[in-house]
Amino acid sequence: MTGARRGNTGGAQEPAPPSLVDAREALERHFGYASFRPGQEEVISAILAGRDALAVMPTGAGKSVCYQIPAVLLGGLALVVSPLISLMDDQVRALKEAGIRGSYLNSSLTARQQEIVMRRALDGWYDIMYVAPERLRDMRFRSFAAAAGIPLVAVDEAHCVSQWGQDFRPAYRDIAGFVDSLPVRPVVAALTATATREVRDDVVDLIHLHDPVVQVNGFDRPNLSLYSYELTPKRREQFIVGYATHNAAQPGIVYATTRKGVDGLVASLCAAGVTAVAYHAGMDNVDRTEAQRRFAADDARVMVATNAFGMGIDKSDVRYVINAGLPLSLEEYYQEAGRAGRDGEPAECLLLWSRGDIRTCHYLIDNTEFAPDVPASERRRLIGSREHLLGEMIGYAMSDSCLRRRILRYFGQNLDQVPEKCPACSVCTGAVPDAYLRRVDVPGGAGRARRGRPTDEGEGLASDADEQLFQRLRTLRKTLADRSSVPPYVVFSDATLRGMVRRRPQTLDDLLCVPGVGAVKLDRYGDAFLEEINRL
Ligand SMILES: [Zn+2]
Repeated sequence: MTGARRGNTGGAQEPAPPSLVDAREALERHFGYASFRPGQEEVISAILAGRDALAVMPTGAGKSVCYQIPAVLLGGLALVVSPLISLMDDQVRALKEAGIRGSYLNSSLTARQQEIVMRRALDGWYDIMYVAPERLRDMRFRSFAAAAGIPLVAVDEAHCVSQWGQDFRPAYRDIAGFVDSLPVRPVVAALTATATREVRDDVVDLIHLHDPVVQVNGFDRPNLSLYSYELTPKRREQFIVGYATHNAAQPGIVYATTRKGVDGLVASLCAAGVTAVAYHAGMDNVDRTEAQRRFAADDARVMVATNAFGMGIDKSDVRYVINAGLPLSLEEYYQEAGRAGRDGEPAECLLLWSRGDIRTCHYLIDNTEFAPDVPASERRRLIGSREHLLGEMIGYAMSDSCLRRRILRYFGQNLDQVPEKCPACSVCTGAVPDAYLRRVDVPGGAGRARRGRPTDEGEGLASDADEQLFQRLRTLRKTLADRSSVPPYVVFSDATLRGMVRRRPQTLDDLLCVPGVGAVKLDRYGDAFLEEINRL
């Protein structure tokens, strides 16, 4: 073990480290929430106390807050290692909206722009900098980092360090060496949604976490309804078009397995009058960025993407995710499906699979490409492990017991408190796909996300006046978002708009009490929303 730990250097004048009270204040100020979500507090207090941390949280549980709040409080420049270059620009804009000073350094910037960012960082302009893992090898970057004073390195999507998953990214293996190269060892926090034992052990070993606080969060997402339907490819397309048409006002993501599949679905959706955009590796950068922008800005309702699109979308109000085809593991599936309903509002996750998909998956695993130096015994082990992961995925698709319980059991959650039957999976409710296959136009589409839910405590059905106000607030949000060139959900989430509808705030103080409204956004948008709410 090398390197000194922060706070351990013995200086007499050392200021008291920030406390959880400070962290809660920062949460309120920047994000408008009075309390942390489960697990966040444990990770944040570990980081503030100078301990390494491993956070295993499902997509949508609020992982990023775990490093964003410490970054604001610790002083210096927190470094976030992320494989998702295409997201960095949006992430930094969203931080700016919340009043946090962010930056990023990646290959989308020119050499001159990179220089400027580094100079500003050294002058103390930023709290957070996002970098891709490949950057950590760069010697110029290393000397910059040594001079920058880095209190925290947060490793996002930390499972990319492990060969056991599908997202192995060799440059993640350089993180430990980079951390050791810094003059003072920063706190290292690793975050991932992948919870299998092998991957978790790999993360701790290969990123060299020192005696980390390990926080594994519940994987239950009660706002998600789960569906698994066996459908032939032809009926699958019919279903998707029927479903998307019926839910035409809702943002959704469809995952297809091939580029051809993506293009075909986009054509069918557009022909049916649903604005859909494609996103896959065969498109050039400009087209991909434009597709992402249109989807984020609500200019296109549906994004159809290949799985190779990987982890790339950060939109909180996605109301459904359809997987047209079988992912290779439940981790992969739950990560993709988990992009639905990140704002906590009801959302649906539909898995549409066929027997042919199973054969394709076996074929892909059998033909895995290995680096030449991987010995045969290791190859057999890895292939065996992937077959095992696939077996669990198939078991979920074909399950005749509760889908939610199946996911929770897979991720190692204690099932004592979980009932045998849930109110929101296709096995427990017996929901069938027929309505969308016949393409009947079911009236009253607005309430559709509640289908299959017997009760919605406290909420009741929204009245017409409420729904109208909600739509007006969405329109206002879109206008304000376009004006500041950010996606609408960055201004306020759907859940926050619903909160405004419920509470009908009369004053700025009232508005500040709506969850999701913090001081920074109140300043920026408060008057506009109050005026709209109180307009007759
Ligand atoms: Zn169930």
